[in-house]
Amino acid sequence: MHAKELAVAPPFRRVLGAEVVVAPDVDTDLLGTFSGEVPRPDALVETCVLKAELVFRSLDVDCAVANEGSYGPIDAVPLVPSGVEIMAFLDRRRGIKIIETLSTHRTNWRLMRFKAGDPAVPLVVKAMGFPRYGVFVVCSSDWSHPIKGLSTVEDVVAALDHEANRSEDRLGVLYADMRAHRNPARMRVLRALSWKLAKRLERLCPQCHAPGFGIIGNRRGLPCEACAQPTHWVHFEIDGCSVCGHAETRPRKDGRKTAAKLSCASCSPKR
Ligand SMILES: [Zn+2]
Ligand SMILES: [Zn+2]
Repeated sequence: MHAKELAVAPPFRRVLGAEVVVAPDVDTDLLGTFSGEVPRPDALVETCVLKAELVFRSLDVDCAVANEGSYGPIDAVPLVPSGVEIMAFLDRRRGIKIIETLSTHRTNWRLMRFKAGDPAVPLVVKAMGFPRYGVFVVCSSDWSHPIKGLSTVEDVVAALDHEANRSEDRLGVLYADMRAHRNPARMRVLRALSWKLAKRLERLCPQCHAPGFGIIGNRRGLPCEACAQPTHWVHFEIDGCSVCGHAETRPRKDGRKTAAKLSCASCSPKR
């Protein structure tokens, strides 16, 4: 529904020689949407896998790919928005399930409340990238009817004024449209994640030759540079196969063999 195939198809074609087609009649809004009208199932990854499984209802294929994203303020730094994108790949014939994720700070995600007639609105709307990026408006005390399809700054101002006036707290809410086709920054993240997923599928399990051999976890305990005691730094990364369970450890990608003394509990005990 949101043109994500524009991000997924090129790497799947180039890396895997695979053709990506859009599944018809998949109403993913059933699973939850960015504008908040439908409650989302708890876990993002779970939702993403469910979404990929929906494909098998309408298409006679072995493989499906789906995406789910979440954006908002970070708990630690409330004014800096960030996001995470999940991509799930399923191969029901081989029994493969691969999840790739990508976090980003490059997003125009924002949610702000305004009184009717607030002169700051046009500037804020432009700072959110509008009209190249979409925005939604909703009544602060009634989130059931978000206003989409706004195409001029005047439309946004009028919608905000209208929603503020009918709200119990006299505020209208302005927030970024995070649907991929209305959000170029999100589309860029999806492109990068699609390449990551395609590259992973290119790698075959050394044991059973199933596609998608790649990182499944890590082991901490990189020795301290001074005293050689294990630290909380990652020591080994672990690659695994989702089909046969074969796993291999490999040293850190950055080549570090020891951890900084400052990270060592023995050398630098917390005061
Ligand atoms: Zn130490
Ligand atoms: Zn395997």
